[in-house]
Amino acid sequence: MDCARTIRKKGAKEVYVLYRRKEEQMPAEKKEIEEAKKEGITFLFQHNVVKILPKEAENQVAKIECIKTELIQKEGELRPIPIDIKGSNYLLDMDYVVMAIGSEPEKEVVENLAIKRKEKGYIEVDKNYETSQEGIFAGGDIIGSKATVAWAARGGREAAEAIENYLKSKEKTC
Ligand SMILES: Cc1cc2nc3c(=O)[nH]c(=O)nc-3n(C[C@H](O)[C@H](O)[C@H](O)COP(=O)(O)OP(=O)(O)OC[C@H]3O[C@@H](n4cnc5c(N)ncnc54)[C@H](O)[C@@H]3O)c2cc1C
Repeated sequence: MDCARTIRKKGAKEVYVLYRRKEEQMPAEKKEIEEAKKEGITFLFQHNVVKILPKEAENQVAKIECIKTELIQKEGELRPIPIDIKGSNYLLDMDYVVMAIGSEPEKEVVENLAIKRKEKGYIEVDKNYETSQEGIFAGGDIIGSKATVAWAARGGREAAEAIENYLKSKEKTC
């Protein structure tokens, strides 16, 4: 949302936000969506991107292939699942694409370090941001904190303080 609004404010003539689910299911504040609409951003709800098509012989975007989606409630799923509607594909002229998709912890990194994890693969830390491996600390999204920049920055700062205290305590014992 921030990217879309900033690009528009910087002068992009047309800005589209494509979202696979309905407006009311979008993980954004209602106010943000309303303001973005007022600023001239076009929302395409229940839309998915199938392909990004480049300009011939150029490393630039020319079009995106979109497909419409329908929402299906599956057993055991909290949210309806978007399913592509076969044959509803169409092309949109586009010259720049910002991918805004979710992320999850990279298993291999955590597994290689033999660090204890909690649900969804996030790293478990104690109140000092120390993991199950002594001397290894973690903070930010990887510990499953509230996924915002402010919380990640706070986690980083507090973890840094904890690391400093840990190192000082080691110095004393040497
Ligand atoms: C689509 C989307 C929209 C968002 N919008 C907002 C918003 O509007 N406002 C807001 O406050 N927050 C927003 N967030 C959340 C915010 O981006 C995160 O909470 C924040 O970036 C977390 O910071 P971090 O330092 O923990 O992790 P990250 O910012 O993910 O940084 C981790 C870094 O580690 C690097 N890395 C990964 N693996 C390795 C490896 N093996 N070796 C070396 N480096 C590695 C990555 O390349 C990355 O640079 C959004 C997130 C997403 C996905």
